[in-house]
Amino acid sequence: MKEQKRPGLGSIGLIDMGHAADTVLRVLAANIQTIFDVEADILSPMPVPDEAFEHRRGQYDAGLILNHLSRLCLPRHRRIVAITDVDLCSPVLTYVFGQAQLGGRFAILSDFRLRNTADTTCAPSALYYERIVKVALHEIGHTFSLYHCEAPGCLMRMSPETRDLDELAVYLCNRCSFALRKNMKEVGDK
Ligand SMILES: [Zn+2]
Ligand SMILES: [Zn+2]
Repeated sequence: MKEQKRPGLGSIGLIDMGHAADTVLRVLAANIQTIFDVEADILSPMPVPDEAFEHRRGQYDAGLILNHLSRLCLPRHRRIVAITDVDLCSPVLTYVFGQAQLGGRFAILSDFRLRNTADTTCAPSALYYERIVKVALHEIGHTFSLYHCEAPGCLMRMSPETRDLDELAVYLCNRCSFALRKNMKEVGDK
């Protein structure tokens, strides 16, 4: 018997916080619906918050962007994912592709370091889209309390560099899929 859509699970909202092409948002929405089995909506774009800019580093602190998002009134969506084109960092990492609140509601990712290949030429568009999708799904996984995973090819593996990301499949291993389904059904994610 086909599984019914989980009632009241809520949807995932996508916010362009830069210059994300419409295609990027639509590709992301389609992949989110496939992997997480929830609706994905494209919300109104918004600028990157100035307060997250680290003048010393010339980058934006991903955690401060998440704090900014958590202060906004966006009640309809269970999860909110922002997509930006600025370079993101964290206090302890020189850069991050994305960051999420573990078991929380917000995630941010950037295409800043996903656009080029190792020799700094422009990545082919299929590879570029694939990278964005992988980072987004990984970060959304964190919001559903998934930790990093060691299974080969699993989306929840840590990818410090694009070559690590390129080795992943758009796939969650059995253990992560099971944990995801369980976590999504728990109180607060119904
Ligand atoms: Zn991660
Ligand atoms: Zn896994």
